[in-house]
Amino acid sequence: MKRLQRRVSKRVKGSNNRKKAVAQLAKLHLKVSNIRSDAIHKLTTYLAKNHSEVKIEDLNVKAFLKNHKLAGAIADCGMYEFKRQLEYKTEKFNSKLTLVDRFFPSSQICSSCCNNRISMPLKVRVFECPSCGNIQDRDFNAAKNIERWFEGIFVPERSEHQAVSSTASACGVDKQRWQSCYRYDETGS
Ligand SMILES: [Zn+2]
Repeated sequence: MKRLQRRVSKRVKGSNNRKKAVAQLAKLHLKVSNIRSDAIHKLTTYLAKNHSEVKIEDLNVKAFLKNHKLAGAIADCGMYEFKRQLEYKTEKFNSKLTLVDRFFPSSQICSSCCNNRISMPLKVRVFECPSCGNIQDRDFNAAKNIERWFEGIFVPERSEHQAVSSTASACGVDKQRWQSCYRYDETGS
């Protein structure tokens, strides 16, 4: 694509050669867009067809697109389209689409010990729990938390967490609720 763009810019404006180069570039753009669309369709069909429930984080796509640093990356991977397809495909295949609260800090909770509100700047891609030493890919850890998310869960604010210095009692009753949810998932009862 870079080569073709350069070719376009080097051709004389209005010339036939430039028109040819523009057409080549447009063809490549179409090809990339087709590959992307095909990949999203295959993935969303696979997810909806083979799973009784699909949970996704209800990200605020429009707000992300306003953020210029993130806009390119988000638009590139077609997140809005991904969600839109999952919505109608889960319905088609009798699966359930659950949107996880966008304020649920899925990437700040340790999926192993439930210690939460661990500060994670976006550039840090590996999750390291200071409490239990769990080291995991950031997105995989977040996905595990999303899997265990349930309606009405309470997660303390960061300030509340800091107020209670001991991690053991930081989550209190709601930590127990959170963990009982784990057991619920594991036994399948
Ligand atoms: Zn941990």
